[in-house]
Amino acid sequence: MSFIRCEGLVKIYKVADLEVFALQGLDLTVQAGEVMAIIGNSGSGKSTLLNILGGLDVPSAGRCFVGEYDLLRMSAAKRVQYQRETVGFVWQNNARNLIPYLTAMENVLLPMQLAGKAGRPARSHARELLEAVGLADRAQHKLLSLSGGEQQRVAIALALANQPQMLLADEPTGNVDTATAARILEIFRDVNRRWGTSIIIVTHDRGLARAVDRYVLIRDGKVAQEAVRRVVLDDAPVAAHEETHEELAVLDSAGRLQLPRELMQQIGLGDRARVEVEGDRIVVRKP
Ligand code: ADP
Ligand code: MG
Repeated sequence: MSFIRCEGLVKIYKVADLEVFALQGLDLTVQAGEVMAIIGNSGSGKSTLLNILGGLDVPSAGRCFVGEYDLLRMSAAKRVQYQRETVGFVWQNNARNLIPYLTAMENVLLPMQLAGKAGRPARSHARELLEAVGLADRAQHKLLSLSGGEQQRVAIALALANQPQMLLADEPTGNVDTATAARILEIFRDVNRRWGTSIIIVTHDRGLARAVDRYVLIRDGKVAQEAVRRVVLDDAPVAAHEETHEELAVLDSAGRLQLPRELMQQIGLGDRARVEVEGDRIVVRKP
């Protein structure tokens, strides 16, 4: 069974008299130990989805399971346990997690202390985490004295402090240069290999998305496309221009399909289409 199962997920925010549909029947499954990315324009619902998966926000309707947790029916106590034991969060702005006047080590120890872990085992685990993100030699440095990229790596170590089964990263490379972004991706891969952590990366950087095996595109609160890395046989020549991933449109359980806007514009398709079977294909054309 998949580790994450979301079906027809809906999230409505009420703002004064207005209702904002942030998620509109989103389907998503993620396997345990998978590293995948979510891309989409600003406002498409990426952060809403991540906050729901992280247990920070409650869906309005639909179904969403992570491991044995039902995210729509979870007591307050269970939710706290879920947040503490299952999820680690990395944000674009790491100030949300980190305390500037503490050292890297003290920062990573904080969530462990909150979970009642202390003493030598906690310190040795914190050291292992700082080593995993390549900051063993910065452990005793105050956060303020570290570069932005180093601070983001401390934030990753901190997110892993309580050995979560999954790491959720919302635009983790949004504030760093390309070299640091590559480094962060490498760290995610290493974390995944070492501990089998499932990792979901929200990004608007297509390059970053193409670096993982699978990414989904969210549009208007739904998964519109999915792209899976092409399997290339070892001896097959790969042309430089060849796409690394095969992008597929996603059909939901009701058979709804989102056509890529570029394709619609290309043939001038409006809000009605003629749909016909021709041999083994379904053809969508202007009426
Ligand atoms: P993304 O992360 O892809 O940029 P979000 O998930 O942040 O998108 O937002 C999706 C939609 O929901 C947007 O229209 C946004 O304005 C709205 N939204 C997000 N959070 C809230 C909130 N707390 N209250 C009201 N509307 C919100
Ligand atoms: Mg966002």
